Amino acid sequence: MDPIVPKNFIQQQIVDDLAAGKNDKRVHTRFPPEPNGYLHIGHAKSICLNFGTAKLFGGKTNLRFDDTNPAKEETEYVDSIMEDVKWLGFDWEDRLYYASDYFDKLYDFAVELINRGKAYIDFQSQEVISEQRGTPTRPGTESPTRNSAPEINLRIFEDMKLGKYNEGDCVLRAKIDMSSPNMHLRDPLMYRILKQPHHRTGDKWCIYPMYDYAHGQSDFWEGITHSICTLEFEVHRPLYDWFVDELQETDYRPRQIEFSRLNITSTVMSKRKLLQLVKEGYVKDWDDPRMPTICGLRRRGYTPESIRNFADMVGITKVDGVTDVALLEFCIREDLNKKAQRLMCVTDPLKIVLTNYPEDTVEEVDAVNNPEDESMGKRKVPFSKVLYIEQEDFMEEPSSKFYRLAPGKEVRLRYAYFIRCNEVIKDSEGNIVELQCTYDPETKGGNAPDGRKVKATLHWVSSKEAVNCEVRLYDRLFTDPDPDGHKEKDFLEFLNPESLKTLGNCYVEPFIKDAKPLTNYQFERLGYFNVDPDSKPEKLVFNRTVSLKDNSKK
Ligand code: ATP
Ligand code: MG
Repeated sequence: MDPIVPKNFIQQQIVDDLAAGKNDKRVHTRFPPEPNGYLHIGHAKSICLNFGTAKLFGGKTNLRFDDTNPAKEETEYVDSIMEDVKWLGFDWEDRLYYASDYFDKLYDFAVELINRGKAYIDFQSQEVISEQRGTPTRPGTESPTRNSAPEINLRIFEDMKLGKYNEGDCVLRAKIDMSSPNMHLRDPLMYRILKQPHHRTGDKWCIYPMYDYAHGQSDFWEGITHSICTLEFEVHRPLYDWFVDELQETDYRPRQIEFSRLNITSTVMSKRKLLQLVKEGYVKDWDDPRMPTICGLRRRGYTPESIRNFADMVGITKVDGVTDVALLEFCIREDLNKKAQRLMCVTDPLKIVLTNYPEDTVEEVDAVNNPEDESMGKRKVPFSKVLYIEQEDFMEEPSSKFYRLAPGKEVRLRYAYFIRCNEVIKDSEGNIVELQCTYDPETKGGNAPDGRKVKATLHWVSSKEAVNCEVRLYDRLFTDPDPDGHKEKDFLEFLNPESLKTLGNCYVEPFIKDAKPLTNYQFERLGYFNVDPDSKPEKLVFNRTVSLKDNSKK
């Protein structure tokens, strides 16, 4: 096998660990979502990193639900997370775990720490406990019960488990160091009382372990070698190591490594804020195509390949930053350019009547399905006397830079003929309702034998054969590139009122009639689109995934 070329500092660390013979040369990672919301594009970065890195080294990746807080967790989220990880193209095989699988073991370990005088019950309120923690430069104050006897602590801990105390009455704390410069080591919480049923353990527990305690032990029990997480956990690492060192006896140690989280312009990424957008109805649901969630991106028309490629391009560093959403859009354009079937769709129809074309004749012209991929072949597009073009491709009094259709001007209809506009028909209010044009039968296929040129090629559909449909155009969900970054203003103040535009009277080539939900297309000149799950044979609905070019910098 060729030597593996590490692409980032984490892979370099693994190369070094393997060279040093650590962990019996195993590489084992995990993706540990908390099931309290749907996954977003930031999680996709973590998924690609964890699964992708393990795969690179011939290792394994576990999916582990970090379900230690029953107050906010639901089975709906568990199911959606599994669906999203699979859709992204990754497989945890038979290694699906839940932190809740370890509640018994974690309890036993807590008892062991109590017995060794390394954990104690504190009856003080949360406020007092945080007040007593001190500041990084001022040592904390010891709790009055810090040195109480293990037997007393144990009895109370058992009573906590039995439900004899109420939420907030007391907590279990690890006894570490109240003057440590690392605040996380100043006797952190291990257990709190939560009288909430758990989505997996039901009413069995009313005390739940804290993340910092549960996570390292779970990693240890699963044989994780590299526990990759985001930078905010860097300061927790000594605590992660402390618990493992106190409780585990073998030489093997999972190694926590941190990287910077993904942030993207013009959106928010925190699950709490995404939940708020859904619950308060600013978007339709978690899978609204404007959401940065994986299911939202899927519904919008993003492919797993484009997201994996994006994750690759943003790279892995230790420096926090913000990635321009334009990079994500670049990745989907690039993928769909290679894959998407081309079609013509008119979103704002203007009727064209070809006065010299025979009535009741329907001709079929050949159109290329994908110029990037000849193997996708050609299709037939019906052409007839009455057609639609886009309103904006016509100007009655064209400006000097307008090269498309105008009275007396000639343009090409893609794959078909040259047409010339002779007359503009208006209704009683002066609105243009129809253009009378003539076509040149000599220009079949779109070229004139006499070599004359036209300056514009328009997309079109045949009015009778085309299928009426709805098209949804999306714009950025927020008008500000950093909606979260304003101290005085709430992120909701930057919601873009024009983030969704629904065009209800569009016409698309009949080719698409049986299109399946989520299939990607390119509508020529308009962008990449896909079939929305709301689409029905009697009313097709399309989402615009992305425009053909990046227009944001105009
Ligand atoms: P949020 O802050 O959005 O609520 P979280 O960190 O609480 O997210 P978890 O479910 O705990 O969400 O995250 C699961 C994994 O995904 C963690 O390892 C976490 O570090 C990683 N992750 C979460 N958000 C991002 C992000 N924006 N970029 C990269 N990785 C992320
Ligand atoms: Mg978290």
